[in-house]
Amino acid sequence: MLTDRLRTWMGETPRLPAFVYDLDALGAHARRIRDAVPVEVFYAAKANPDAPVLRTLAPHVDGFEVASGGEFRHVRDVLPDARLAFGGPGKTDSELDLDADRLHVESPFELARLAAKRREADVLLRVNLAVDREDVALAMSGPFGMDPVLIEECHAILASAPWLRLRGVHAHLASGLDVPDALAQSREILDWARPWAEKAGVEDPEFNLGGGMAVDYASPARTFDWETYGREIARLVRPGETLRIEPGRAVTAYCGWYVTEVLDVKPAHGRWYAVLRGGTMHLRTPVTKQHDQPFTVVPGRTGGSAAPAVRDAEITLVGQLCTPKDVFARDVPVAEIGVGDIVAFGMSGAYGWNISHRDFLMHDPPGFHYLVSEVP
Ligand SMILES: *Cc1c(COP(=O)(O)O)cnc(C)c1O
Repeated sequence: MLTDRLRTWMGETPRLPAFVYDLDALGAHARRIRDAVPVEVFYAAKANPDAPVLRTLAPHVDGFEVASGGEFRHVRDVLPDARLAFGGPGKTDSELDLDADRLHVESPFELARLAAKRREADVLLRVNLAVDREDVALAMSGPFGMDPVLIEECHAILASAPWLRLRGVHAHLASGLDVPDALAQSREILDWARPWAEKAGVEDPEFNLGGGMAVDYASPARTFDWETYGREIARLVRPGETLRIEPGRAVTAYCGWYVTEVLDVKPAHGRWYAVLRGGTMHLRTPVTKQHDQPFTVVPGRTGGSAAPAVRDAEITLVGQLCTPKDVFARDVPVAEIGVGDIVAFGMSGAYGWNISHRDFLMHDPPGFHYLVSEVP
């Protein structure tokens, strides 16, 4: 899993912990998605809004999906010319003033508040269709968008506000979708949205099918099959329509590592622990997803001969926080691990640093490094 470049970087005795992003690998991955998928791709910035990451993606995507006024201003700052779609529940008045290329409206009340501004805006209505498949990682049920009953209230509001241009329908119904699930869901969305848009008199409708493409943390090599997905999606497109997706995790997860070092190794009540510099206040992903973050141990034993190490053991990797929840991975077999070794957690490029409670305990923040042939 470790690339030669990352090994070289680790050999240069960097200050740890650090996030390392391979921007060349990210660019290549984004190009693979671009080449495979014949519809518009907007990157969901909340997965990782790091500026060099955004700049690396820009040539390979059609735009960016932002979920707050803060994300909107940040992406605008980094990429002034990028197309931005702004969605998300509970928009404030100042957020409704933002000049997004597409505004995803979440409720009839939000639409009425936007209409009252008497300004032009290009709108997609966010629909919330029930998802009853059990195997999706996270169904976006609850307060997102409008169910098929509530969304009917939008017709009257739009009729009285001709400055609002209804462009189509937005849906983001679940995450953790494999290819068959993503396709089944896309068909469900289109089956509902096409007649609805036609009834609403939308010409050349746009259908945003959402993100949520699966990332399998247990099998890093098994990436979402963009080629199969793209071939099947191509069969769904009809003339005059624009289809769009907005993946986040499956775009950036693979390009990032959280790299740190072992400070202590010890047994406690029959279980071996390695205490690492840093913690899940930097990489919250394994706590939120309740999984073992994939990792590689690189021997760098600097602890001296008296420093503890263990062979052929199951190890639980924890950080420096004073809470039993600060666990990166639990009871994972390792050949050997000891004080001074480097541990590189892969798949740390999405929902990592930016979702983490970084100030908890006030340890030093991680460094940030970019592996790239040309800085974007
Ligand atoms: C979070 C989010 C996405 C991206 O989801 P991923 O699982 O990261 O692909 C896309 N659209 C909306 C509306 C979201 O909230």
